[in-house]
Amino acid sequence: GVKANPLRRYQFYRAEMTKAAVFRWNMEADLRRAIEKKEFLLHYQPQLDTRSYRVVGVEALLRWAHPEHGMISPGQFIPVAEETGLIVPLGEYALRLACTEARGWHDQLAVSVPVAVNLSAVQLAEAGLEDTVTAILRETGLPPSMLKLELTESAILSDAAAATRTMQRLAEGGIRFALDDFGMEHSSLSYLSRLPIDTLKVDYAFVSKMTEDRAHAALVQAIISMTHSLGMVAIAEGVERSDQLFYLQAYGCDALQGFLFSRPLPLAALLQVLAAGIVMPAAA
Ligand code: C2E
Ligand code: MG
Ligand code: MG
Ligand code: MG
Repeated sequence: GVKANPLRRYQFYRAEMTKAAVFRWNMEADLRRAIEKKEFLLHYQPQLDTRSYRVVGVEALLRWAHPEHGMISPGQFIPVAEETGLIVPLGEYALRLACTEARGWHDQLAVSVPVAVNLSAVQLAEAGLEDTVTAILRETGLPPSMLKLELTESAILSDAAAATRTMQRLAEGGIRFALDDFGMEHSSLSYLSRLPIDTLKVDYAFVSKMTEDRAHAALVQAIISMTHSLGMVAIAEGVERSDQLFYLQAYGCDALQGFLFSRPLPLAALLQVLAAGIVMPAAA
């Protein structure tokens, strides 16, 4: 998807071993400190209905407000957080914050727009995930139907049996799941029908090539049609241009997320969008 290719990142570390080792050491120590100091916040990107442009959801995206380096995007620190296990406390922090803020707009604006929170493979594999999620929902008072958890195929398939159990128990509690970056990893289709997945997110890579390449257009169309056959909803990620919008409308994609409508927004700006309830595509 839009995040850095892990292989390429690894090669970068190898090529600049000394510098990279120092960088990683600093990053890890700094992450620990920043988690203590709560230097992280969430930006929210609206998800729009493909025809009415009404806001049907928002995705919470982590940002690190670093005191010296400014705003750091997740592509830079999530991989280190995952490798060091720091993603567990950091992810819990993000989930709690998202649920608290979503409870806020649910109550103050009386809008029942669900929040989608990304979970990494490390979090899904953690024995305590179910308890953590349940406790956070109880604590914040957010209705479970207002929470959607975004997982990737690799997170699920790294231990499919355990993931299935965890997801089924959480789904029984009313939480929904979205499959993120679909089409970029395993694309093993057999598990799709067995898991409580509600939403499939068509990866940015397909959306960005769709209008120039017939094969990618065919794939997007097929993914959307398969999604509907399985009773799921399709969201296109990374919609940047109006030609992409027209294709996705023609293919019956359910919802859209991308810079054509809105970048991820700080909470105050998101609340204005939620109050309006609609985001029009930017003029081409
Ligand atoms: P993702 O979950 O696939 O999130 C979508 C990414 O696409 C976001 O990048 C978003 O800003 C970007 N995006 C949205 N629309 C467009 C567009 O039109 N064009 C382009 N070029 N990009 C667009 P962001 O915020 O940098 O996040 C990157 C990744 O970091 C996320 O990918 C997700 O995998 C991870 N991430 C973010 N927040 C969290 C979190 O709280 N926990 C975990 N575990 N991972 C997170
Ligand atoms: Mg992605
Ligand atoms: Mg996501
Ligand atoms: Mg994605």
